[in-house]
This record gives sequence, structure tokens and C-alpha cells, in this order.
Amino acid sequence: MNRLYNAFKRRLMLLCMTILAVIITVIHITVYLTVKNDIEEQFEMSAKGLVVSIADTLMINIEEYKLFIETRNVDSDYYKKMQAYFAKIKANSNIKYIYSERKLDDKTIEFILDSEPIENPDYSPPGSTGPNDPEREATYSTGKPSSFKFVEYSKWGRLLGAYAPIFDADGEMLGIVGVNIDASYLYLHINRLNLALLACYVFILGLSFLSLSKYSNMILEPLLKDKLTGAYTKRYFENFLRSEIDHAIKNRKDLALMILDLDHFKTVNDTYGHPFGDEVLSFISGIVKKSLRPSDCFVRYGGEEFVVIISDANIAQVMQVAERIRNAVENSEIYNEEENIQVRTTVSIGVSNLNNWVIDAKELIDSTDKALYAAKTERNKVSYHAPPGRNL
Ligand code: GH3
Ligand code: MG
Ligand code: MG
Repeated sequence: MNRLYNAFKRRLMLLCMTILAVIITVIHITVYLTVKNDIEEQFEMSAKGLVVSIADTLMINIEEYKLFIETRNVDSDYYKKMQAYFAKIKANSNIKYIYSERKLDDKTIEFILDSEPIENPDYSPPGSTGPNDPEREATYSTGKPSSFKFVEYSKWGRLLGAYAPIFDADGEMLGIVGVNIDASYLYLHINRLNLALLACYVFILGLSFLSLSKYSNMILEPLLKDKLTGAYTKRYFENFLRSEIDHAIKNRKDLALMILDLDHFKTVNDTYGHPFGDEVLSFISGIVKKSLRPSDCFVRYGGEEFVVIISDANIAQVMQVAERIRNAVENSEIYNEEENIQVRTTVSIGVSNLNNWVIDAKELIDSTDKALYAAKTERNKVSYHAPPGRNL
């Protein structure tokens, strides 16, 4: 794997992981909010049903209720009966508080009945006041039951509440009844669900990362490589050559280029047909690849023309590699099944490298082309295009 391929791979993985993370986050938020809202709604409905039935019960003895508002006698049978009634509901449900109240002004309410025992610190004695808020105001202003979602009260924990109006026989609103459900347990479960979902998503992301790093070659190779020969495409070559030249100049490293062109390939096609020509191209590519290091970049430059970028090797070593390829091609036989014969072919190779006179991609390609041109005068030859005054 060479540097640019790894950069492509990193970019592909980053893109895929980002898309996956966004999809997972959207799914997570949607699932979490849907479940949370549904559960909250169900609890609100139960609270509303209960508070309406408590208000109805109070309205059966509305005269006694009215009397209590005036006397506020906590020793009366009525008050004791109501406390016992509220206590029974509390003992058999997840209700935390039940109370009745009336509005004094826009900002203040006055408590009337209360479910808490008198000695309890949360007990609100009749006549004690508290702030009005938008939730209870909804019932005061409309005369209809209302409910509100979980509220984080530092003193009372997570609560869910509902209110219902109390009317006298003439239809005049005397106040409201409120109930609060203790939602801490419910929230604990919602948070656990959230954590479980998060753990699943982290697991999915981790698994995807591992599979991507293992299988990203399967996605990248068809995009970057020629199908017939397995060599990189010309487009990839242009990117890669530029990045390799920058790297070589910056780090004062060697960089050489080879252009290989099959000799008389048209004759091969004309004699044995195009499909066999394809076989030859694929066979010769195999020979070239075997002579290269993984960091070298082998490219199909045109029909029967290939390019190799070799970094970190001096020109003598590069010439050795080129000669090895030329020799291997010359001595290979490709079996032609139709004619039942072994076919031989040869390759001409031009070589050049970065030097004081050749400093960019265009100059390097031109210089290597000149070397190939020289090799083609004889064919089955390797030529080096040396800088002025230098011969190999
Ligand atoms: P030279 O020694 O001067 O290079 O001669 P040549 O015949 O190899 O050169 P020329 O450029 O005249 O011919 C190249 C031939 O390569 C022509 C074209 O049909 C053939 N060719 C190009 N691409 C493919 C391919 O993908 N498959 C096959 N089978 N042939 C191809
Ligand atoms: Mg050619
Ligand atoms: Mg040719």
C-alpha cells in the first residue's frame, strides 16, 4: 500500500464513519424521544384520570368543602376523613402528593386540603400560600383538567402532575385539586434504556470501523484500479505523482519514473485477436507487479503503456528493476489455447528521475517519455534519460 492509497482509505473511512455516526445519532435521538414522550404521556393520562375522580369525590360533599375553606378546622371529621382518603390512594399507587388549593391572585395560591400527615415537613397547612405557575394557571383559566410533564424539583425529585377544577352546585369554581406522581423510578428506567441504546450504538460503530478497515480495499480497489490489469488508473497516477514529488523534494528523497510500452503489440492483437491481447496485458502486468515493492505505484497509463513510480531508490537500483522486468517479459511465454502455441513478447522501458533539471510532474513525464522514445529505436530495451552532462 502506498501513501496516497492510505490517504484515500483514511478519507473513505472517515466519510463512512461520519455518515454512520450521524444516522445512528438521529435514530438514537428519535427512539429515545419517542419512547420518553410516549411513557410520559401515558403517566400524564393516568394522573389526569385520577385527579378528575378525586375532584368529583370532593364535589359530592361540596358544602362541607366550602365550610372547611371558611373554618380551616384541621380537627374536624371532614379534614380527617379527607386525609385518610388521600392516604389510602397514596398507599395503593405511585402518587406522591395530593392537595387542593384556590387562587388568591395571579401570583399566589392558597392550600386547602393536603395528603401529608401534619408532622411531615412537606405538609402545607390550610391557609398557607404558594406561587401560582403556568401549569396550574391552565386549569384556573380554562376550568378544564390539565397535566404537566416531569419537572426537576430539587426538593421533591422528579414529579409529574395533573390538575382538575372543583365546582360548587352553582357551577362556580372553588379551586383545583392537584396530584403529583413520583417519576424518579420511571426516569431511572428511561435513562437505563438510553445507556443501553448508547452501548449498542458504540458497539455498532466499533464493529463498523473494524469491518471498514478490513474491507475498505474492496470498495477502493475497483474505484482506483484498472479491472483488466489491476494497475492503478491514470487519474490516480496524476494525484499520486504530484504528492510523491512534493514528498521527495521536501524530504530530499529519490524519485524515479518508468514508462513501459509493449513492443509490436498491435501485431499481437492482429495475429491472435483482441481477447488474447487482453490476456497478454494481464499476464505482463503480473510480471511487472512481482518485480515491484508494495510502496511502488504501478499504473496503466494507456492501452499497452504502463507507468511505475519508484520512490526511495537510487537510479542504479531503478535501472536494475527495469532491466529485471524487461528480462522477465522477454523470457516469458504466454500460452495461446486457440492456436496451441506459446507466444512471446517484449517490452521497452524508459526511465528518468527527479534531478536539478527535472523538478515537476510534467518535466518528469516528458523526460521519461524521451527515454522511452530512445528505447523504442531498438525495442526490448531499457533507456535512461540522463541530466545534461551525465550518462549512466
Ligand atoms: P510499438 O512497438 O511501437 O509500441 O508498437 P505497438 O503495436 O505496440 O504500438 P501501437 O501504439 O501502434 O499499438 C498499440 C496497440 O495496443 C493498439 C491497440 O489496439 C492495442 N490496445 C490498446 N489497448 C488495448 C486493450 O485494452 N486490449 C487489447 N487487446 N489491445 C489494446
Ligand atoms: Mg503504445
Ligand atoms: Mg507498443
